[in-house]
Amino acid sequence: MNKDWAEKNKEIQKLLSKEATYKEGIMKLLEFRGELFQQITWIIEGYPVEAFYQLPFAGAKGYHSKTLAYSIWHIFRIEDIVAHAMIAGDEQILFRNGYFEKIASPIITTGNELEGQDIADFSKKLNVQELYLYAKAVKESCDDIISRLQYKDLKRKFGDDTKQKLIESKCVSENENAFWLIDDWCGKDIKGLVQMPFSRHWIMHIEAMQRIKNRLCKIARKGVDPVAICGLSCNHCFLGEWCGGCRTEYNTCSFATCSEGRICPNVKCCNEKNIDGCYECDELETCEKGFYVSSNDGANAAKAQSLYIRKYGKKEFLKIQSRLHEKYEFEKVQEILGQDYKEALRILEDEECKKG
Ligand code: SF4
Ligand code: SF4
Repeated sequence: MNKDWAEKNKEIQKLLSKEATYKEGIMKLLEFRGELFQQITWIIEGYPVEAFYQLPFAGAKGYHSKTLAYSIWHIFRIEDIVAHAMIAGDEQILFRNGYFEKIASPIITTGNELEGQDIADFSKKLNVQELYLYAKAVKESCDDIISRLQYKDLKRKFGDDTKQKLIESKCVSENENAFWLIDDWCGKDIKGLVQMPFSRHWIMHIEAMQRIKNRLCKIARKGVDPVAICGLSCNHCFLGEWCGGCRTEYNTCSFATCSEGRICPNVKCCNEKNIDGCYECDELETCEKGFYVSSNDGANAAKAQSLYIRKYGKKEFLKIQSRLHEKYEFEKVQEILGQDYKEALRILEDEECKKG
């Protein structure tokens, strides 16, 4: 498990276990859930639709053997059922505001009954943007329920009536891989539910989602030119394993994800000019588009790198990048090259001379 998240969760559970620190524990739990949910938001914003129904670890054992869409559905169906059908005793979010119809899910269950290719087929049917809105609504409503819980509520248990209600709701499949959930939830008090569906369950699945997306990026980048269109090196970029690079659909660079149609201005411009990258452009020195906007700290470094590629080619450029990154971290390299772009080009050329 992610060490930082495991530590935070441990501290929260400790704070929640004593009346004197309970309120602080709730505050930290809500903050932590916000931090974890941000991971899901980044995944939704950064990856193409097809990423959500891929099974890059098909056949593996563990949470990472699912798809991104399934993971989101599963986390928030469980939270919705537990928070509303059990704790609050009101209508689940899935059945409010047309979420179920808009997501277009063929099931209302938690999905535990699905395996292998069935998970991918199910995921493909989901409207991922609507699924995200549903997840957000469930998170917010559950945050509200959590923030209203008092210390004494933690001991509240659930009787046979709740169990019966859950069975009748058909929100948990009768399949043996799923049906145990009802006994599991009903065997816990509210404290137990806070410990699993509302926190630990998130950690396990969100961590698995990170593994899934990183694996998808790795697959996408295989055999693809590692020189970015603006002159950065994908092999040395800090985004590393989270990004497929701007020559693939798995481009998670913020200049792409924040632009219309998820197309970076430099990529768009080069496509329009029918050139391989900005290093082939006559306007490079004066360009202010995309990554070269003067307010971007990395603009000069990228421009100098593009000029270097223009003069010496991609192969030499990648060698120099490797040499610099052997000595310095990514941020330091950007800082060294982040001055005037002509000076930065001179530094790159000096590095080349040192090699000789
Ligand atoms: S700024 Fe654009 S061209 Fe540069 S790495 Fe990001 S997506 Fe690629
Ligand atoms: S105008 Fe700017 S963004 Fe467009 S190809 Fe030239 S250098 Fe790249």
